Amino acid sequence: MPFTVVSFHAHPDDEALLTAGTLARLAAEGHRVVLVTATDGGAGLADPAYGAGSRLGEHRLAELHASARALGAARVAWLGYADSGLDGAEPDRPDPEAPGGTRSTFTHAPIEDAARALAAVLREESADALTSYERHGGYGHPDHVRVHHVGRRAAELAGTPLLLEATVDRDLFAPAIRIAARLHLLPRDLSASMARAYTPRRELTHRVDVRAHLRAKQAALLAHASQTTGVDAAAPDARGRRTVAVLGRLPRPLARLVLGREWFVEAGRAPGWPLLDDILASLRR
Ligand SMILES: [Zn+2]
Repeated sequence: MPFTVVSFHAHPDDEALLTAGTLARLAAEGHRVVLVTATDGGAGLADPAYGAGSRLGEHRLAELHASARALGAARVAWLGYADSGLDGAEPDRPDPEAPGGTRSTFTHAPIEDAARALAAVLREESADALTSYERHGGYGHPDHVRVHHVGRRAAELAGTPLLLEATVDRDLFAPAIRIAARLHLLPRDLSASMARAYTPRRELTHRVDVRAHLRAKQAALLAHASQTTGVDAAAPDARGRRTVAVLGRLPRPLARLVLGREWFVEAGRAPGWPLLDDILASLRR
C-alpha cells in the first residue's frame, strides 16, 4: 500500500544531506514523497555570483526543486521564512513579496505559527508520516533545532500517525572528534558541541540501508550548485569545495561507506537493537 511521507527541513540542501537516500528509496517503492523547507536558505554561504538574501533564496529554492526531481519527490513547499543564519542573528528581511513587506526569519516566528503552516500541508496531503529532526538539531543550527519543535507540534496538530526524526549515529564520529580534541585540532567549544551533536546509537530506532539509491542521493547533493563552492566571510580567499560537492562526487565504493546509511529516531518507539531498516514499519502493522 502506498503511503504519503512529508519530509520537513530547515534549508534547501538539508534534505540531500540527511534524508535523500531514504526519500529516494520511498519514491522508488511507489510512495508519495513531499519536501517542505522552512526557509529559502538566503543566509547560506555561497558563491557571490548567486547574490544574497532573497536572490540567493530564489536560487536555492530552484535547486531544491532539482533535488526533488532527482529523488522522485512529487511536490516541494516552502513555509515562507527567511534563513536565521548559523548564529541565529540574521534580521528579518525586507521583501516586497512577503506579507507586510518583511520576511520573518524562522527563529523569530512563533513555533505555533510555523507548526500551523506545516500542519496545513500534512492535512492537505493526508500524510501518513512526517520526518523532521532530532532534538539537538544535529550540530545545533538554530533553524535545525526549530525544525524539531515545529515538527513535533505540527504532527500533533494534524494528527499525523508517524513522526521520524532524522539524525546521524553519533558513535560513528565521536572517536574522531575525541582524538581531534586531544590533539587540539578543534577549538574546545566546537569539540564540546560536536560531542553533544546528533544522537548516540543507544537512542536510535532506525538505520536505513540506502546503498541501492546512491545515484539519486548524489544527484540530489549536486543539485545544490550554489553550495558547492563557498566563500568564508572571515577568509574570502579561501574558496573551498563544500560538503555537498565533496559528498556528491565521492567515488562509489567510498559513497557506499559514507552515504549508504541514514538514521532516525521514531517518536514514541523504544530504541532497541537491531535497528529497524523500514521507516514505515509502524504503519504496516
Ligand atoms: Zn540546514
